[in-house]
Amino acid sequence: MGVWFFLLIIFSLFALLIKSSKARIFLFSNVIRPIGYRLYLFEFIGMFFHRLMLKNTKEERESKPLLYHKMGYLGSQDDAIEIIGLPFLTDNYCYIILYKVKYQDVEVTKAVAVDPADHELLTSFLDRSDINATLSTILTTHKHWDHAGGNVELKNKYPEAVIVGSTIDKVAACTKFVNDKDEFTIDGILNVRIVLTPCHTAGHIMFVVSKKSNPNQKDAIVFSGDHLFVGGCGALFEGNMKEMKNSMNKIKQEVDWDSRIFCGHEYSTRLLQVAQRVEPDNQEAKLKYNWAMRQRYNKLPTVPTTLRQEVTYNPFLREAIYTMM
Ligand SMILES: [Zn+2]
Repeated sequence: MGVWFFLLIIFSLFALLIKSSKARIFLFSNVIRPIGYRLYLFEFIGMFFHRLMLKNTKEERESKPLLYHKMGYLGSQDDAIEIIGLPFLTDNYCYIILYKVKYQDVEVTKAVAVDPADHELLTSFLDRSDINATLSTILTTHKHWDHAGGNVELKNKYPEAVIVGSTIDKVAACTKFVNDKDEFTIDGILNVRIVLTPCHTAGHIMFVVSKKSNPNQKDAIVFSGDHLFVGGCGALFEGNMKEMKNSMNKIKQEVDWDSRIFCGHEYSTRLLQVAQRVEPDNQEAKLKYNWAMRQRYNKLPTVPTTLRQEVTYNPFLREAIYTMM
């Protein structure tokens, strides 16, 4: 770790001395940023920054009523499997699936949380008197601290909770390591399928969740983490453009095009601006951007999306971006 720190300081000082802005940008993108990323992956440093970010947003968050979005149901409303979106930090989403289980004729509410990196926020939601749910499972899409940074505290509060993550990323407090195409069930009610989507991180996974009683692909919901966003994709920290293309083609084959997709950040307006620059004549990109702007103006989320929508404007699911490289 010390070596990476030393290199970061040396190259940052060097960048300050460089007069050419082009050379400075090159140095930042190709040397300083990758070194900074290496340091961020160390738990001590990554968690320090993650806690700092949580602290900065905590005061404002706690001064208002708890903000959450009801995002529909898995299956029909009668199945009572509800999807909740919980915004945190500046643009992250944690998702919660609430479902009911009967123990000796007593019905209890249980919860699956996807990337609950703000553990206090999740706990305050689950402890609400109208929710009163126990955490059964944490699905972690990848190792970054704004996704996996709540796992340790949540494991302490809910020791029974199963924490799922990929064998490659080795997310914090993981108790169930999974690989591409693995499937497992939760309480005999939910079915979870793993789709490995490397690039943002080497072991990034998406979760395809469906009802155990009816694993109909169209009904399924997909948690795409930082791999696929509305109008774009996550930063290529541990992969290149060729791998991104492969990964996107794989999703097109393995995920039903009508399944609802829930991504890890609210980046839509920014990414749809880029999509319009890549394809200036794409009317779908314009329409989606205008819609996303209206949603955000009204403080509403722009998720979920579907592959059927994304293939019409998302440059990373279209050939346009790859032919530009
Ligand atoms: Zn990430």
